[in-house]
Amino acid sequence: MKTSIILHARHNEFSPKQMMEIVALGEKYGGYFRHVVTGIQIYNITKEDKECIIHELPEGIVQVKHRGVNNLLACVGKGNCKNGLMETRKLEAYIDAHHYGKGTAHKCKIGISGCGRNCADVMVKDIGFYGTVNGFVMSLGGTTGHRPQAGQIIARNLSVEQAKKAIDIVIDWYISNAEPKERIAKVLARLGNPLENVDL
Ligand code: SF4
Repeated sequence: MKTSIILHARHNEFSPKQMMEIVALGEKYGGYFRHVVTGIQIYNITKEDKECIIHELPEGIVQVKHRGVNNLLACVGKGNCKNGLMETRKLEAYIDAHHYGKGTAHKCKIGISGCGRNCADVMVKDIGFYGTVNGFVMSLGGTTGHRPQAGQIIARNLSVEQAKKAIDIVIDWYISNAEPKERIAKVLARLGNPLENVDL
């Protein structure tokens, strides 16, 4: 039985050097490549080869965990897209540096869009932000899978700095309160909005 590994690069940006090293690793272990929502997947490898690849990953490349903050996707945002209302890269970089890879009870996907066109599909992410003329709207509890549902809006009009504080609170809340294998949507239904009465 073959297996696979998914790779994440800091800020979702793979340098040419990293790409060449990843391709060399795939060739070395007979892997093929797919672009998936969480990163770059090398598949058609054995479990033993996967362990070797983990130890030989290029600098700045990490394995995507199943249970953890494992998906961070931002569109290019204001300054790089004519429709952008909020910059996305500062918030993405902050989340990547402070929260990406943290262990959580279930998968925790995060999306950031610079406007309501939502190219990063934020309403079906566990945690989502999209830009408006007044700042970021933040949603919680979106899912795809067997029971797809849109996230609930838990905060509006957030600056980038307020969005950083909000995500710190929400990730800590999820880690502290989730039952084993419990997704954020269920914790939200059980405990309510973690930002209620919080002055950001
Ligand atoms: S979500 Fe908006 S800002 Fe981001 S890429 Fe799409 S249209 Fe542009």
